[in-house]
Amino acid sequence: MENQILVLLGLPGSGKGTQAKLLREKFNFEYMGSGDLLRSRKKVDDFTGNKIASVIDNGGRVPTVVITKIWMEEFEKFHQKGFSGLIVDGSPRTIMEKELIEGALGWYGWENKKVILVDISSEESVARLTKRRNCKDCGKLIPYVGEFKLLEKCPDCGGELISRADDDEKGVRSRLEWFKTDVQPVIDYYEKSGELIRINGEQSIESVFKDVLEQIK
Ligand SMILES: [Zn+2]
Repeated sequence: MENQILVLLGLPGSGKGTQAKLLREKFNFEYMGSGDLLRSRKKVDDFTGNKIASVIDNGGRVPTVVITKIWMEEFEKFHQKGFSGLIVDGSPRTIMEKELIEGALGWYGWENKKVILVDISSEESVARLTKRRNCKDCGKLIPYVGEFKLLEKCPDCGGELISRADDDEKGVRSRLEWFKTDVQPVIDYYEKSGELIRINGEQSIESVFKDVLEQIK
């Protein structure tokens, strides 16, 4: 696992973020999630920070050229700290980003890459995103998977569970459309090149993680 790069792809709601977190805890690798990076970059009060904020808040997508610069800055930091491995969560989103991120990783000599698809169906994605809930009192997110589906009260504080208003079905469907046109070609590319590791994402979090570990060792 020396200088291992693990790229995690999956539909919205696939749980790849959760798997990224588990992998990070297990291997103590660096983590790069474009969502997190953009959320932290938008807090900087400059032109780019403010523009990222307005793009994200309006449901738009930040252009690749801006993201690429943020990647390079992160990679430089990882390199300085002493690199041992990296988990990439949610990138690349397009074939162009695939080329650029591979170029950026190659710049640092990090070429030992594995691409993991946490595979769920579109229907499962819609169900998970439109049916997940939050605790009204402590905010805990209750995913629409496995035994969580049946919960009536918050397991932490006993609070009432409410649906998340931002995940309406129309919005979710449009994210899926975008995935199909932009991200799917990336998956197809890695499938053809033989680099894609496909994991059944429609299992418990523990089973998915077990399969991931099995496949990357
Ligand atoms: Zn609660």
